[in-house]
Amino acid sequence: MPTPPWHAQTLALHAGHAPDADTLSRAVPIHQTTSFLFRDPEHAANLFALKEPGYIYTRLGNPTTDVLEKRLAALHGASACVATASGMAAIFYAVAAITKAGQNIVTGSNLYGGTHTLFAHTLARFGIEVRFVDSSDPANFARAIDADTRLVYTESIGNPRCNVDDLPAIAKVAHEAGLPFILDNTVAAPPILNPFDVGADIAVYSLTKIIGGHGTCIGGAIVEAGGFDWSAGGRFPEITAPDPTYHGANFWEMLCTLEGTPCSAFCTKIRTGLMRDIGATPAPLNSFLVIQGLETLPLRAKAHCANAQRVAQYLEAHPKVAWVNYAGLPSHKDHARAKALFPIGPGAVFGFGLTGGIEAGKAFIKSVRLCSHLANILDAKTLVIHPASTTHSQLTPEELAQAGVPADMVRISVGIEDVEDILADLEQALEKA
Ligand SMILES: *Cc1c(COP(=O)(O)O)cnc(C)c1O
Repeated sequence: MPTPPWHAQTLALHAGHAPDADTLSRAVPIHQTTSFLFRDPEHAANLFALKEPGYIYTRLGNPTTDVLEKRLAALHGASACVATASGMAAIFYAVAAITKAGQNIVTGSNLYGGTHTLFAHTLARFGIEVRFVDSSDPANFARAIDADTRLVYTESIGNPRCNVDDLPAIAKVAHEAGLPFILDNTVAAPPILNPFDVGADIAVYSLTKIIGGHGTCIGGAIVEAGGFDWSAGGRFPEITAPDPTYHGANFWEMLCTLEGTPCSAFCTKIRTGLMRDIGATPAPLNSFLVIQGLETLPLRAKAHCANAQRVAQYLEAHPKVAWVNYAGLPSHKDHARAKALFPIGPGAVFGFGLTGGIEAGKAFIKSVRLCSHLANILDAKTLVIHPASTTHSQLTPEELAQAGVPADMVRISVGIEDVEDILADLEQALEKA
């Protein structure tokens, strides 16, 4: 397909797909099939030996999912992308691809809850140590790295504190140690932030959130920038050594040593290794649904951010609101950095506190009509939740404070309804709080 240097909104609609000559279908077809015919025995042998591109079996690749992967890669200016069945699967694969028992990873501590559990408990059972550091100071990452560290990890905007760390400085720490920087950019998908502009080597996503955008399916993705030198220091044999499961093929030499071609070995290794062996592959229908979201992502991202800014300003000025943690407000400690890193706004998820404390929080949640009370973020619809009485209800007041979830906090994910209607709903619910 011809690809002039298109802008993001054009790539979101066109990249990775040209109507096929048989059907001329304009929309991306849902290829709901497990398997694909081989033209002849030689074709089959070549596909299995990775000597020519093509499809064998949907666990390894599918034409609908392929469009999603190519489109996500195009939106990032990336070398490659692998879509997964969930965001958690993407995070696990990205870490497991280059880390084994006895080694460690260094991560910011202010993580999505599911990631925290994966890192602190599940990876520990497999002998991978995860070192959690306060991500507000990049030097904390440097102090935690040793000879057995394999990667540096964090999230682009914290949820719900809305903290924005010095991502370029964290990338520098990783690169000075010869390590890749993996960024969970779920809440700041392009055009909010291109993770590769701040030095990330690998981005991981939950496609369930703003990219799918309509709360219809779970999905994830790993996106590779293509510039990281996996061969330096011989630290990453998973990428650079011959692969015994492909007759000793060397993915680094095949995919990363061609002049002018960015390296795609990380994603290729995940597809041909972990995806083959574990199989958290997206259903073709889910890939199709995420593609529908992706087509309007640039438009929706701007609308989410603009509405979040208005809602945050409104809340901050409201007498029943004690505090608002949105990095788009000058009152947030990371406001200056947020302005520099996120020109269209630091996403649409943040926490705020009610002067009436936990009881006011519950009353507020009970009173909203337009806003949906549920445990998700970045649906097109506005969502609210009161963590202290739901997701964090087992914690003591001290533990709540430690987790950055004070008892009076309401988390809001601002949607793309007309902002006047969102404000009117908040107004009537605050009256009752
Ligand atoms: C939701 C989320 C995940 C997990 O994604 P799933 O698609 O639910 O598996 C990971 N990271 C962040 C930041 C998230 O918000």
